Amino acid sequence: MQATYFDGKTARAHPVELSIDGDMLVIAGDGLERRHTIGAVEIPDAPGSTPRILRFVDGASCEVQDAGALAAMLAQHGIARDRVSAWERSWKLALTSLAIVVVSGALLYQFGLPFMARSAADKMPVSALDSLSFQLQRALDRTVFSPTKVSGERRQALVAAFDRLTLPEGMKGRLQLLFRNAESLGANAMALPSGAVFVTDDLVALTSDDRVLIAVIAHEAGHVDKRHGLRQIIQSSVVGVLVTWYLGDISAVGAAAPAALLKAKYSRDLEREADAYAARVLRMNGMSPSLLADALELIEKSHGRRGGSGAVSYLSTHPATDERLAWIRQAQ
Ligand SMILES: [Zn+2]
Repeated sequence: MQATYFDGKTARAHPVELSIDGDMLVIAGDGLERRHTIGAVEIPDAPGSTPRILRFVDGASCEVQDAGALAAMLAQHGIARDRVSAWERSWKLALTSLAIVVVSGALLYQFGLPFMARSAADKMPVSALDSLSFQLQRALDRTVFSPTKVSGERRQALVAAFDRLTLPEGMKGRLQLLFRNAESLGANAMALPSGAVFVTDDLVALTSDDRVLIAVIAHEAGHVDKRHGLRQIIQSSVVGVLVTWYLGDISAVGAAAPAALLKAKYSRDLEREADAYAARVLRMNGMSPSLLADALELIEKSHGRRGGSGAVSYLSTHPATDERLAWIRQAQ
């Protein structure tokens, strides 16, 4: 049957003859001959509409004036109309597959990633925690931290109160209290996976009641014991590795670890776990868990005084919802 062939590169129209040879579509005439597997030819399923454009994988196309003759020829060679619309169906299949990939990717990100990070964090030996924390501390000291300006007397009093604490099994001797000035972090505290707990000068200045600071440290101890910070770092590294793979810049990964620790927002479940741990530590030491709620409220107020300008506040990484405060207050 008659057709007009375009090679996809030039606008030249070649008058050709279309025929079918086995499972091949043969295009011949005007000094050319092309053979395409019918399965790889896009044959639009548009009955009644003329002309029909057949498209080939190499970008070439063929215009058929007589759609009825084409359908008859295909039918004659046992190529059912179903086969003709297969290309369209394969498109729907492709879109469905894409949707499945996107949804499962999102599910993996939301549920699978935290799960994998948790199991990886739990398996990491203490020696690895220490060397990772050493790197993190160096990075923090170079960037957001500067030497503390808190008086030696106040620091000694706090360290003494910290040393007197009775801690759950395995935490005594692991936690270490450290003081740093960090204007960009405001009243803040953070724990490294090794058990080094940093309190900022602004946090120390917030209250003269050492027990309130101890409550914050006890909460941080909960994050250390349950390896929450490590999980956050692993999670962001996995994302970092993927981003790196995409952008081809490896330096992004190492550089991202301190930021992950500073900015990663703990989930409500992790906060609850750390709060429960803090409540237990405070009760073990004859103190009220509501001291932690007091601390969070003081931090909230101080953040307000700073005009909410701090990009990273303690409450942005450890969100204090009303529900959370209420839970802490009842955990007597
Ligand atoms: Zn927290």
